[in-house]
Amino acid sequence: MKNIIIFGAPGSGKGTYSDAIVERYGMNHISTGDTLRNEIKNGTEVGKLAKELIDKGQLIPDELMIKILANTYDRLPQGLGVIFDGFPRTIAQAEALKQMLAERHHEMGVMIELIVDEETLMERLLRRAQIEGRADDNAETIKKRFEVYHNQTEPLAAWFEKEGIRHTFTWEGSKDQMLANIFAFLDTLK
Ligand code: ATP
Ligand code: MG
Repeated sequence: MKNIIIFGAPGSGKGTYSDAIVERYGMNHISTGDTLRNEIKNGTEVGKLAKELIDKGQLIPDELMIKILANTYDRLPQGLGVIFDGFPRTIAQAEALKQMLAERHHEMGVMIELIVDEETLMERLLRRAQIEGRADDNAETIKKRFEVYHNQTEPLAAWFEKEGIRHTFTWEGSKDQMLANIFAFLDTLK
């Protein structure tokens, strides 16, 4: 499978659909959110900084994030394709990803954008808070994350559009339907 960049607001289902895509196509999965939460759990220096920022709903600085991403990418088995979940989140990260892949003679592949209305997103994140207990899933931090998403991440959709690899999928109330639409598209790429 080609590389896939899965893109969308907090709670849009990036992790959920990534897992389903990994299962169907047998690819590698990089979730920068999971990577950072792992650093926090292990009490590393990166983890300490990450915790401070994540708890405030802010982004980790681009330079650090790009380094972490390249490190993770280079440790994966080659040739399977990678699903990038939660990265890039800024134009600078997107440019860095493009360059990193070009240097390795790899392609960016396709971008899958998940479009979900904000009311549904808020409901999901508050429900997840009760199940997973993520410190950043509280109403105040969620609002901040939405704001950061609108200001710093959403403009990237146009960047991907210009690259000619943006494919949008809109939530219409059913996860199975969403997955069927995504699989139908990905099946055409193989
Ligand atoms: P969801 O996983 O439900 O889609 P989300 O997108 O908010 O929600 P994660 O992708 O797990 O959650 O990210 C959690 C936090 O980790 C972000 O709010 C941000 O602080 C930090 N983070 C993750 N990826 C990046 C990135 N590429 N650049 C900067 N910060 C990041
Ligand atoms: Mg996630």
